[in-house]
Amino acid sequence: RLINATAASSQEELLERALRPKQLDEYVGQEKIRGQLQIFIEAARRRHEALDHVLLFGPPGLGKTTLAHIIAREMGVGLRHTSGPVLERPGDLAALLTNLEPHDVLFVDEIHRLSPVVEEILYPALEDYQLDIMIGEGPSARSVKLDLPPFTLVGATTRAGMLTNPLRDRFGIVSRLEFYTADELSKIVTRSAGLLSVLIRPEGALEIARRSRGTPRIANRLLRRVRDFAEVKSNGQVTLQVADAALSMLDVDVIGLDIMDRKLLLSVLEKFDGGPVGVDNLAAAIGEERDTIEDVLEPYLIQQGFLKRTPRGRMATMIAYRHFGIALPKNGLQ
Ligand code: ADP
Repeated sequence: RLINATAASSQEELLERALRPKQLDEYVGQEKIRGQLQIFIEAARRRHEALDHVLLFGPPGLGKTTLAHIIAREMGVGLRHTSGPVLERPGDLAALLTNLEPHDVLFVDEIHRLSPVVEEILYPALEDYQLDIMIGEGPSARSVKLDLPPFTLVGATTRAGMLTNPLRDRFGIVSRLEFYTADELSKIVTRSAGLLSVLIRPEGALEIARRSRGTPRIANRLLRRVRDFAEVKSNGQVTLQVADAALSMLDVDVIGLDIMDRKLLLSVLEKFDGGPVGVDNLAAAIGEERDTIEDVLEPYLIQQGFLKRTPRGRMATMIAYRHFGIALPKNGLQ
C-alpha cells in the first residue's frame, strides 16, 4: 500500500536509482545526520571496525535508502538490501547474515514489519555477531550457534514509534530525516535536470521544489512530468511559466498539496466540522488506508501547520481554513 502511495512503475524506479547521489557530499540537506555519519564513518574506518548499527526513520521518499547505499560506499563495503515483510522465517535472515562479508551493510527497509521470531534472532546478531538458530524439528531439533562477521545493520522505518523497544535500543545511531526546504529541493531538482539533460531555469527549479511536499522523490517525479509538458507544449525548457502550468495540470496546488492532501483536509473541514476526528473515521471517510494517512499524508500536513494531532483526534488549523477560503466556525476552533 505504501509502495502504491509513493510509487512507481519499474521504469520510474530505474530512473530514481540513476538520480541517487552516491557520496555523502552529494547528499543534499539533512545536515545533522550527514555531520554525524561523516565522523562515525571516518572513526570506524580508522579502527578497521564495522560502523555501528544505524536506524533511519521518516516519511517515504526522504532519502533513507539513498543514505544506506552512501554509507556502504563511504565505508568501502558491500550492501545487501531486504525488507521486513520479505524476511518471513528465521532461516531467511540467517541465510542473509551468514553470506555477509566483514563490515558489510545489511539494509532492512520497513524494519518495523519484521516478524517477532525473526526479530528474536536478530538481537544476538546485532549485539555479539552471533546467530542462534534451531535446526530440525521435534525431538531431533537442536540449537546451533554460529559466529557472524561484524556487520552494520541499517534499518529504515516510517515511524520509530512502531519499533519494539529492544530492537530500537540496539541501534547506536538513530536519526530522523526531516522534510527538505525549498532551497534544498531546488538543488536536487537542478542536479537531476543536469543528469537528465533537461534545460531548466532557476525559477522553474524553485517552483517544482516549492510544490514537492518537502520530498526529493516527489521533486524528481514532478521534474520528469514537467519535462514531458515542456517538450510537448513548449520548446523543452522548464521556465517558471511552464512549471506552473504543468503542475496545475497535475493537480498540484500552488503550495504543493496534491489531490489526496486536499481530500483529507477538506474532509476534516467539511465532514467533521474541523475535527477532532479519529484517524479511523477519517480513513473511512476518504477511502484511504490508515497507515497511508499516518505515514504519507499526515506528517507533511502537520509539519506545514494545516493539521494538528490532539488526544481527541485530528483537527484542522486556522491555516487550513484560510487555505481553502472556508469561514471559521462561529464558536471558533475547538
Ligand atoms: P526513502 O528510502 O526514504 O523512501 P529514497 O532514498 O529512495 O527514499 O529517495 C528517493 C529519491 O530521492 C532517490 O532516488 C534520490 O534520488 C532522491 N533523494 C533522496 N534524498 C536525497 C538527497 N538528500 N539528496 C539528493 N537526492 C535525494
